[in-house]
Amino acid sequence: MFSYRHAFHAGNHADVLKHTALMAILQHLTQKDTALLVVDTHAGAGLYRLDGDYAQTSGEADEGLLRLTAKTAAAPATGKKGSTGDAGANAPVPAARASALQAYLDMVASFNAKGRHRVYPGSPFIIHQLLREHDRLKLFELHPTDARTLLANIGQLNAGRQIEVFDQDGFEGLKKFLPPPSRRALVLCDPSYEIKSDYPRVVAMVSEALQRFATGTYVVWYPLIPRPESHDLPRKLKNLAIKAGKSWLNASLNIKSNKLGKDAAGEVVRPGLSASGVFVVNPPHTLKALLKDALPQMVELLGQDQHASFVLESG
Ligand code: SAM
Repeated sequence: MFSYRHAFHAGNHADVLKHTALMAILQHLTQKDTALLVVDTHAGAGLYRLDGDYAQTSGEADEGLLRLTAKTAAAPATGKKGSTGDAGANAPVPAARASALQAYLDMVASFNAKGRHRVYPGSPFIIHQLLREHDRLKLFELHPTDARTLLANIGQLNAGRQIEVFDQDGFEGLKKFLPPPSRRALVLCDPSYEIKSDYPRVVAMVSEALQRFATGTYVVWYPLIPRPESHDLPRKLKNLAIKAGKSWLNASLNIKSNKLGKDAAGEVVRPGLSASGVFVVNPPHTLKALLKDALPQMVELLGQDQHASFVLESG
């Protein structure tokens, strides 16, 4: 069985990028009245504790959400000269206009008491917050413990038939929902890439999904790690989109060098995940402009060294 648990990674820089992009896409797709189907093929547990053992052990949120909130709390609030905001509360990100990153921070804040960041909403809860009553959400989670936790967490929403949870393989499970009756769908594919076969399975899933439902919006998160498969994945997805005659967008964020370092005792320290990306097939036309603002803000606020950078390309 898999050892990956998203509780170790919740709120890290990869979640900041993925959830900011996801929200920007959903906010656009929910403007049209027609019902939207959202399928989250790798849903995780739904809600995470940032003050729990998993998050505290990994410290990953310190390089993501918590770094953002600390920095934006310390930065002067937009339009209010000299204001530093409440300590630990979400002061606006230092940007002249409302941004996708600010929307993300506001979303996380809405799950927490003012000025505290104990709870982190995973993709199922972020998606649910943005859906209308007539939209539908299908969640797949294969890890038995996380699937049970997800079911219990979703149960608290009393969402009835709006949300369905499946303790099944999301790559396979997607098929039965495409094409959706409303002809509008967003698919989030966010595997852990714990096993190498996840890379070709993502490509096969998107390829088949495009054949079943060519106008759906497909969002794939991927890690950028020293492994050829991870760098090949966005290239393969780009080729797929181009072959299918579909528009695409690729956004990646790098927060630090991926070279091995040494700690004070001279022990080799692995840098952990330093970069990741989101690839979107059929992105909303508004997404690129929003990410063009948000990505430099992420680099500025999350970047740890001269390697901090972003890529934003589309076609
Ligand atoms: N999407 C979540 C979020 O943004 O909050 C995080 C998901 S986490 C990166 C990936 C999850 O996929 C893990 O919880 C893992 O147990 C689950 N998983 C792995 N293989 C799967 C599969 N074939 N089908 C469904 N879930 C799977």
